[in-house]
Amino acid sequence: MLEELTLTCEAADCDRSLDADAPAICMSTPAGTRRAYECDCGAVTITVLRE
Ligand SMILES: [Zn+2]
Repeated sequence: MLEELTLTCEAADCDRSLDADAPAICMSTPAGTRRAYECDCGAVTITVLRE
């Protein structure tokens, strides 16, 4: 299982780090666990953890 150790905002002009342990939304699907993180700049970064 892969874990993202460092997570940063995906917005091109933003380099804030996101708290990987505090996703705004966490959703389990057959393809993996999706997590959405909301940055202070307003962008949303989505990660997928495959198990
Ligand atoms: Zn941002």
